[in-house]
Amino acid sequence: MDKDRELSKLKNTILKFNKNFPGKNLVFSDGNKDAKVMIIGEAPGRTEDKLQKPFVGRAGKLLDSLLESIQLDRSKVYITNLVNYRPDRNRKPTPEEIKKFKTILFMHIEIIRPKFILLLGATAAAAVLKHIGPLSEVRGKWKNIKIINSYFDILTTFHPAFLLRQSNQKRNVMQDLKKLKKKLIN
Ligand code: URA
Repeated sequence: MDKDRELSKLKNTILKFNKNFPGKNLVFSDGNKDAKVMIIGEAPGRTEDKLQKPFVGRAGKLLDSLLESIQLDRSKVYITNLVNYRPDRNRKPTPEEIKKFKTILFMHIEIIRPKFILLLGATAAAAVLKHIGPLSEVRGKWKNIKIINSYFDILTTFHPAFLLRQSNQKRNVMQDLKKLKKKLIN
């Protein structure tokens, strides 16, 4: 089956979860499905829910500018979230939601088959790397992780929403992005 058909099948599966998120829209993905880099955030916010695209609010603008600093844009990356609906009042996704959406995310990764995965923030890192503890323990480190049946190179960095509050961490994120860039050009 080709990628487009697999993606639309997956989208239809996720649409069945909407009864758990009354009044919310599915926020599936943005960018290039054939990109080498897949970026994974936590969950959509208000603007993302409204526009039905990931990372289009304030954190998204910051993400765009960070990507631009390593000559990437949405034509060169594929962007999604761990949870595909906006949790009410921007609360953290519950452990049950994470468990359910993680299965979907892993299927999503298998369809896209990116060369590199960039995880944004602790929620995505906890789900994908099974990391519990401070994000600083895994931030900036490449991990080779098995997702369903294949291994993927995965890098974790701080979430741009966190950077909006802690701009002094931008330096660390820039360092991480340079590591990604280096792999991309090699
Ligand atoms: N934060 C996320 O984790 N994802 C979005 O799409 C927007 C903000």
